[in-house]
Amino acid sequence: MTGVRPRLASHALDLPNHCDICNKARSHGNHQRCSKVRQVRQSAYWDAYMANVEAKKAQQGRRYAR
Ligand SMILES: [Zn+2]
Repeated sequence: MTGVRPRLASHALDLPNHCDICNKARSHGNHQRCSKVRQVRQSAYWDAYMANVEAKKAQQGRRYAR
């Protein structure tokens, strides 16, 4: 099929009505701790992501450095 693009980062666009940390409705209860947990998760995710990018760079550098 042509002309069909995968929807990248679509998960970031559709916000669930439920908290993804405690799985309760966002309008119900206090989610300050949840947002902290989410921040920690996100930074862990980005740390892993950046480490992956660095590893790929290192691999490429090795490949081209002859
Ligand atoms: Zn929550």
